[in-house]
Amino acid sequence: MNAKSKNGGLDAFRLFAAVLVIAIHTSPLAFFNADADFFLTRILARVAVPFFFMVTGQFVVSEFFIDRENAGRRLLTYLKKTGVLYGVAVLLYIPIGIYAGHYKELGAADVLRMVFFDGTFYHLWYFPACMLGAVVVFGLSRLLRLRSVTAVTALLYVVGLFGDSYYGLAVKIPAVKSFYDGIFSFCDYTRNGLFFAPLFLVLGVWMRLWKKELSVGAAGIAAALAFGGMSAEGFFLHANQLQRHDSMYVCLVLVMIFGYRLLLGWRVQVSKRVRKIGAWVYIVHPAFIVVVRGFAGALHMEKLLVENSMVHFLAVTLCSFAAAWLLVCIRPGKKGSGLSGKKARAWVEVDHDALAHNVRFLQSCLGEGCELMPAVKANAYGHGALLVAKQLNRMGVRAFCVASAAEGVELRKGGVRGEILVLGYTHPSQLRLLKRYRLTQSIVDLSYARCLQESGMRLHVHIGVDSGMHRLGIPAARVEEIAALMEDRYLKVDGIYTHLATSDGTSSADRIYVKKQVTAFEGLLGALERMGCELPDVHLQASYGVLNYPELAGDYARVGIALYGVLSTEADSEEWGERLIPVMSLKARVASVRALGTGESAGYGTGFTATHDMHIATIAIGYADGVPRELSAYGGEILIRGRRAPMIGRICMDQLLVDVSDIGQVRQGDIAVLIGCSGGEEITVGDVADRCGTITNEVLSRMGERLERLAV
Ligand SMILES: *Cc1c(COP(=O)(O)O)cnc(C)c1O
Repeated sequence: MNAKSKNGGLDAFRLFAAVLVIAIHTSPLAFFNADADFFLTRILARVAVPFFFMVTGQFVVSEFFIDRENAGRRLLTYLKKTGVLYGVAVLLYIPIGIYAGHYKELGAADVLRMVFFDGTFYHLWYFPACMLGAVVVFGLSRLLRLRSVTAVTALLYVVGLFGDSYYGLAVKIPAVKSFYDGIFSFCDYTRNGLFFAPLFLVLGVWMRLWKKELSVGAAGIAAALAFGGMSAEGFFLHANQLQRHDSMYVCLVLVMIFGYRLLLGWRVQVSKRVRKIGAWVYIVHPAFIVVVRGFAGALHMEKLLVENSMVHFLAVTLCSFAAAWLLVCIRPGKKGSGLSGKKARAWVEVDHDALAHNVRFLQSCLGEGCELMPAVKANAYGHGALLVAKQLNRMGVRAFCVASAAEGVELRKGGVRGEILVLGYTHPSQLRLLKRYRLTQSIVDLSYARCLQESGMRLHVHIGVDSGMHRLGIPAARVEEIAALMEDRYLKVDGIYTHLATSDGTSSADRIYVKKQVTAFEGLLGALERMGCELPDVHLQASYGVLNYPELAGDYARVGIALYGVLSTEADSEEWGERLIPVMSLKARVASVRALGTGESAGYGTGFTATHDMHIATIAIGYADGVPRELSAYGGEILIRGRRAPMIGRICMDQLLVDVSDIGQVRQGDIAVLIGCSGGEEITVGDVADRCGTITNEVLSRMGERLERLAV
């Protein structure tokens, strides 16, 4: 399961949470019954904001504990991103705030209070709370372990409780009352970034780390019980007039823990757009409260549009969603997304966000001073070399490696910048291309080194070293010859590298072999240094090396498969599935649907014969597009309309057949997913590779020329 389908439940709930926040601000049930309104807006809807905190906790704050080295950088990135959003929202609401009379007689202290705690407009407190909360948890994470951090944030929450729902109890003790008087002199509430947000951010971290199974039924029952408790708690506090404010309850913490677990188990597919719409609804809805009120006033329709709080709520919700939809969908699409491509018969989708995520994650695994040198050979493992390399360029990646000079030329012609290292052999007649397109050549052995020297061209090279894989490279023992190359008059040696044969394995034999290779390589480097050679850039890591041996340093890491969000086998991909997101989806059209009667066979040969009446669909993709021909024999499936359809018969060059008897309403032109998600279902490339007895690298790199590559 990749991170996307795994988090479908969270994405779906974002929308609901946004509606709950609108409800808090418009009280839809107030028109009918005060208790019902209290229940909806002061109890039920109180799950919305903690939910958003927990999402931030799971995806952002958790990194403070997992990737401690880069935590500071991550915090800054997050603060910058959220700060920009907050800034935009503040500006957006200044005119509305002035119109609503919010900013009369403000002192400097009030401005600070607003900016850091309460927000400059009534819903905007969420942004400073999130940012301050992240800073608090970050600070704690530098001093304490996660358990202790949790205890401290729980304590802060308790302090918050007595300034919020339990304030009526706190004021009974004079010393405590003066303590809270002190707090309320610098913020209006305790539901802020200091007392409220940190606990939920930390709970989000736990959600990411929580590996134990909890059945959906158990989570549901626990969440329901906790919610019952929270309702009782809320009504009790309300009836006894103990609440100063009503955001914080004791049971809320339990509701969030179990409710969130429940959402994590909910497998739905939610598009990226829907996710963004939720966020925009949160930002824009207060503006529409003002707009709807203004509109009602102008038309003398206050009775219907404002006084009837349900109509008011619906009007605001409708307008907010419409505006959010416009903002998300009408904004100019990303360059190169060429939607027309999806009209093709079969295509590959390249998920830019997933790629960016993987780049960030892999960068976070590298030591200081080590840069990514992504392997974009074999058409970027089938993803489209130019498309991927240009996206990587935009993310700040400045070095690439390819298998052949021709691959390098294609990238340069397409405008890719940075160093491009050719890992393989280039025929002497093509050396000119290397110069012309500023490519760096690998020295694949000693005789090739001589050949390059004899060309008399001033070429940029990296010396390949054979430290034990015995494929390419100069043997590590040939210190003298390697030292001589580094002093060569013509060749410009920019780097020296080796390749590990067993870094993907975890057996002791594999580990010993890695150690042996590393020792040989490091021995060579040490000897060169002792001979007075100044070492050029050094690299030895590929994907598995970076993940399994993060301690092995270098100036570059030649990462391939992991960059594309998977590992070679399904088991490895699952193990790292929390951290890597698959980049590729492979899709094709339903070309035709037909009935197949009992006893009729389908496809080449008579291998497949229907044993009952069935409906089959012909999908416009075949082995020439990279679908392994043997896949259908090993139980291969595709997804249509969120359901699985088994492949039948033999896969053809351009078509394949599937059984759609169990899926109603499959039509010509429907989209079939061969790799990727549909509904709550997913087919991973690891699954395809496992079935065919190969590795994902092979399946991906064989994606056909004929497929269009689309950035999504
Ligand atoms: C292909 C290749 C890589 C990338 O390997 P992954 O396992 O996909 O990360 C790195 N170095 C060399 C020499 C390669 O041939």
